[in-house]
Amino acid sequence: MQVQNHLLLSPSLGTHKTLTSFHFGKPGTGPKIYIQASLHAEELPGMLTAYHLRPLLERLDAAGQVHGEVVLVPMANPIGAAQRVQHKLAGRFELDSAENFNRYYPNFAQHIADEVLPALGKDAAANVALVRQAMERYLEQWTPKTELHSLRRTLLQLSFDADYVLDLHCDCEAVMHFYCEEACWSALEPLAHYLRSRAILLAKNSGSSPFDECLSGVWWRLAEMIAARGMDAPLPQSCHSTTIELRGEADVQHELAAQDAAAIVEFLRSLGVLRDAPAAPVPAAACHATPLAGSETLYAAVAGMVVFAAQPGDTLKAGDLVAEVIDPIAYRSTPVCAGVDGVLYARIRERYVTNGCELAKIAGAVAFKTGELLGA
Ligand SMILES: [Zn+2]
Repeated sequence: MQVQNHLLLSPSLGTHKTLTSFHFGKPGTGPKIYIQASLHAEELPGMLTAYHLRPLLERLDAAGQVHGEVVLVPMANPIGAAQRVQHKLAGRFELDSAENFNRYYPNFAQHIADEVLPALGKDAAANVALVRQAMERYLEQWTPKTELHSLRRTLLQLSFDADYVLDLHCDCEAVMHFYCEEACWSALEPLAHYLRSRAILLAKNSGSSPFDECLSGVWWRLAEMIAARGMDAPLPQSCHSTTIELRGEADVQHELAAQDAAAIVEFLRSLGVLRDAPAAPVPAAACHATPLAGSETLYAAVAGMVVFAAQPGDTLKAGDLVAEVIDPIAYRSTPVCAGVDGVLYARIRERYVTNGCELAKIAGAVAFKTGELLGA
């Protein structure tokens, strides 16, 4: 295993944060897998999964059984992890800019299309290499002006040429669930089932450019531009990336993390990256994939205490009670009910809400939303 330390841009005199990456295997000998944890810094189950994954990969690497390259970033957000407000970790938004750490990654296709499209030919592998070279040049030329931008750039420099990207997050209180773009789904389906995902949310550009979609989006966007121009230039989807929600924020337990690390190892075996043993058969699906545009977010219309009637993982019918919002002054209980059939895959951790707060999310099977599909 090689350890690399990447200095982020210093935001202030006398301070410097470091991003650390672990590297297994050898570049160019097989697929490249990039795995990062806790880009939202208060989402810790992925960090513990990385802790469990590291010794497994170290052992296999020492035995020469890593065919390809695995890059593991166990703590992807040293900026957010150091932010505290009123004695609480505040790692989702950068305090200086208020920007979500997992938004506003560059639209590579837009930046490199003019340069790369005229150079493409009939050889798919050569086209993939050209696109990756253009992405690398774009990242080299990007001079970050802030610490946050230098974090985004560093994460992309480690991952831009990966064939598979696993971005490990979690929700507030949740069951295992899985986000990916439609173009990646067939390649990632075994991973979703090894992890026993209870909801699988597919989108095509869910909006605001999260990390995973930055890396998968370049390929299908360029492929669409090629088709629109009637060019004869094959360009396969060459990065399959996913955001994996490893249950809820409090689900930081060795047993779960070991189970999740083992699921990732099975997926790497199925890709032939780890060759110590044949991959286990892919487990039966615990759910069907549904459109992210069919996911219903329930909101509180009034302020009050939240008493949940539905638990993460419950399969609901439209009209089922999800929560009551209770106002002890007016002596009023306001029911909040499911608007769609589906699995309630996540809910909030707080038990007091103000008007308009999110309460829970249900994976409905029928798309009904357009535009921006991700929450704050
Ligand atoms: Zn997250």
